[in-house]
Amino acid sequence: MKLRLNILLAVALLSGSLAGIATGQELVLQGAKVYPSPTASPIENAVVLIENGRIAGVGKHGELKVPKTAQVIDCTGKVVVAGFWNSHVHFENGWQGAAQAPADQVEAHLHEMLTRWGFTTVWDLGSDPNNTLALRKRIESGEIAGPQILMAGDIFPLHGHPVYLPPEMQLPEAASAEQAEQMAKGYLKMGLDGIKLFTGAFMGNKPVVNMDTAIVKAAADVAHSDGKPVFAHPQNRTGTDNALAGGVDVLAHTIPTEGSFTEDELSRMKRQHTALIPTLTLWTTVVNDPAIADKLVDAGVSELKTYFSQGGTILFGTDVGFQTQYDTTQEYEFMGRAMAWRDILASLTTNPSTLFKQPTKGRVEKGMTADLVVLNADPANDARNFANVAYTIRAGKILYSAQK
Ligand SMILES: [Zn+2]
Repeated sequence: MKLRLNILLAVALLSGSLAGIATGQELVLQGAKVYPSPTASPIENAVVLIENGRIAGVGKHGELKVPKTAQVIDCTGKVVVAGFWNSHVHFENGWQGAAQAPADQVEAHLHEMLTRWGFTTVWDLGSDPNNTLALRKRIESGEIAGPQILMAGDIFPLHGHPVYLPPEMQLPEAASAEQAEQMAKGYLKMGLDGIKLFTGAFMGNKPVVNMDTAIVKAAADVAHSDGKPVFAHPQNRTGTDNALAGGVDVLAHTIPTEGSFTEDELSRMKRQHTALIPTLTLWTTVVNDPAIADKLVDAGVSELKTYFSQGGTILFGTDVGFQTQYDTTQEYEFMGRAMAWRDILASLTTNPSTLFKQPTKGRVEKGMTADLVVLNADPANDARNFANVAYTIRAGKILYSAQK
């Protein structure tokens, strides 16, 4: 019954907007400093006009005509950038039952984990696909306010059930290239947006189990023939090398236990335009000894710095939803040891929108989708300010407001 009422309400709202009735479709962000892109000069005291989910104009105060019906948000002293992508999350820890849980409860969890940190698009790199697809459906129907969710389906090597995943969890293990091909086809048929391969699975005290290159390639070919990206969890050097040899698009982690990438790996990554997700905060959560954690972070930062300084593409990602540190402040601090704030902004905005072919996202410009983050402080002064979010806006709709 409640569902039926929600549908009726949604239909009523939709028909209202179609009839041109003032439904709060126009939103104006006034007085902020706008960074239109990671490379553009800032616009001071700017006006961002949003209409029907798109950016209708960006200009200096007084240059744009603001409709009387528009909802105006005073952003004096604040900073506007494009909506953030977190290219490595999971709807796993605490997300069971997202298909049925009450909408306000799910929305509160989305706030806590994602939208209060500015994320308007996220990549789920492996969870229960039925659960994530149901959550996505609830968001896209308008029932729940949340980010755009893209999802990759997991494939593990034979006998490669990682020790950190519950043993009773059923994992798709591919024993052959044919099996990997079938699994990848199955995922794409389900409506998933990419494939994630455990080219190295962590087995605790036992050796890492690696995926053969032929298996990597079989799954990658299926995804690529459908224009979909392939991610790898590399774990160690062999897992990295097999991922690269098999044509993976994104390394979903650095490999801090190896200390560094080899020259061969770096040149192959550059040649193949492989993107790297550093997940530096994660390395503080996987060991108990703070001294070892520091070493892992230092190695991860050094690998990030090496690849980035050679022109490699970096994507922001935290593995949140597997690890439970939702606050992104520390990730920005770690990344800031290897990159300038504008390069971190690119990892959050233009790099993923280009790589994942969503050209209307990633920049604050006329005609673009109105996915925006309003920050309380300027990231140019300190990269940690990327975590100081006042508003998160997706397609012109406020997903999160710190004012509430
Ligand atoms: Zn992960």
